[in-house]
Amino acid sequence: MRKKIVAGNWKMNMTPTQAVELVNTLKPLVANDEVDVVFCVPAIDIIPAMEAAKGTNINIGAENMYFEDSGAYTGEISPKMLVDAGVKYVVIGHSERREYFAETDETVNKKVLKALEHGITPIICCGETLTQREQGITIDWIRQQIKIAFLNVTADQAKTTVIAYEPIWAIGTGKTATTEQAEEVCAAIRICIGEIYDQATAEAIRIQYGGSVNAGNAAELFAQPDIDGGLVGGASLKPDFGKIVCYK
Ligand code: PEP
Repeated sequence: MRKKIVAGNWKMNMTPTQAVELVNTLKPLVANDEVDVVFCVPAIDIIPAMEAAKGTNINIGAENMYFEDSGAYTGEISPKMLVDAGVKYVVIGHSERREYFAETDETVNKKVLKALEHGITPIICCGETLTQREQGITIDWIRQQIKIAFLNVTADQAKTTVIAYEPIWAIGTGKTATTEQAEEVCAAIRICIGEIYDQATAEAIRIQYGGSVNAGNAAELFAQPDIDGGLVGGASLKPDFGKIVCYK
């Protein structure tokens, strides 16, 4: 049985002061040991959020990192810095990073390898545009993203990763994929992992759905056989996040 994982993606929201307040508000609401709970927060919020979350079931994650250990990369955050701060999860290749910061499947692969080298669990994002869905190429597109993201990743490493399937047209739009659409793609991702590696790896890897997940739709989405939780944007900033984590 795969343990569900629900991760919040705060995006570029919350000052350090607000981050502490939000962690304190959500602490009692997300206390559910049956689910891995992660708050992926802006880099400047990591340390105060970590302090505020001490002694709780909340893991603090990062929203991005660079694929080098250190050096002349002004403005970037290295995996060593994340490890030193106690970070265990990092979102890699979110569609907003791909759209606004020119991330590609190749940079995603480099970041995935680097995160794994440092023992950080990457939450690897993939997803199609509305045009791609309408063209009927969703599964082909996602399979290509997955194959490139996992280049040179071993089966043992792959088992520890998390994949977030996030249809781009459903992110921040209030439009959720139907349960059938979400399950279809998550199942296809699992098949693809099975083809790259083996059945055991496909069974072990956790696949989240992301895209306008809220307190009203989480239970049905997370009940699907291939959906192991969610990556949640907007609703992760509200007390409703507690209802998503405690979806049962
Ligand atoms: C996200 O930021 O990954 C996301 C899914 O956002 P939202 O839940 O707001 O659609």
